[in-house]
Amino acid sequence: MKLIPKSLLPNKDYYLPLLKQLETLFQEMDRTYTKVADQYGFRCNGCIDNCCLTRFYHHTLLEYLYLKEAMDKFVPDRLQMVREQAMKSSRQMEEADRTGRSVRVMCPLNQAGRCITYRHRPMICRLHGIPHELHRPDGRIIKNPGCDAFFDQCRNSGKSDYIPFDRTPFYRQMVMLENELRQHARAIGKIKLTIAQMLVMIVDEIHIPKPYRQDQ
Ligand code: SF4
Repeated sequence: MKLIPKSLLPNKDYYLPLLKQLETLFQEMDRTYTKVADQYGFRCNGCIDNCCLTRFYHHTLLEYLYLKEAMDKFVPDRLQMVREQAMKSSRQMEEADRTGRSVRVMCPLNQAGRCITYRHRPMICRLHGIPHELHRPDGRIIKNPGCDAFFDQCRNSGKSDYIPFDRTPFYRQMVMLENELRQHARAIGKIKLTIAQMLVMIVDEIHIPKPYRQDQ
């Protein structure tokens, strides 16, 4: 399956400026996150309950294309390795869903504890961890207490009084950029993909040479 409609592919000159704007937005997210995390004294050092083991879903074509920009630079061997790992992860998740088990599957981009596309990682990988709030269009405010590592580090040291971290403006800007992109990608419906699913599609979009394909 391909995610990018043919109508968008020739328009790289159109969507690259949008990816630049996405990069600026991600930098703003990173700065805001770091400022609040520093106030708590929270450091994400990786942990047993690693968030790269969490099954996050991603919903924007923007993040897909941004990840693809990083992977366009991978050599075929590396692309094939990532694709195989992504296929394996997807099969493990599908099997768990079929049998009703819960399973923690490491993200295929986490190699030896490090994200190999760190600069191009999606939004949720940047925002996960510290307590936050989200203002819904119906006026409700959703609050989240943060991850287990946050509890361990900050609650135990008494530094867990909530410091405002509102994700709403970031989500709004993402929606605006995504809407602008989708004006040129009318064939795209709703997106709900894990990283592993995105990776298989991206590698297939890149068309790695046939000799490297071992699953066809
Ligand atoms: S993209 Fe990177 S940061 Fe996000 S889950 Fe995968 S390895 Fe972790």
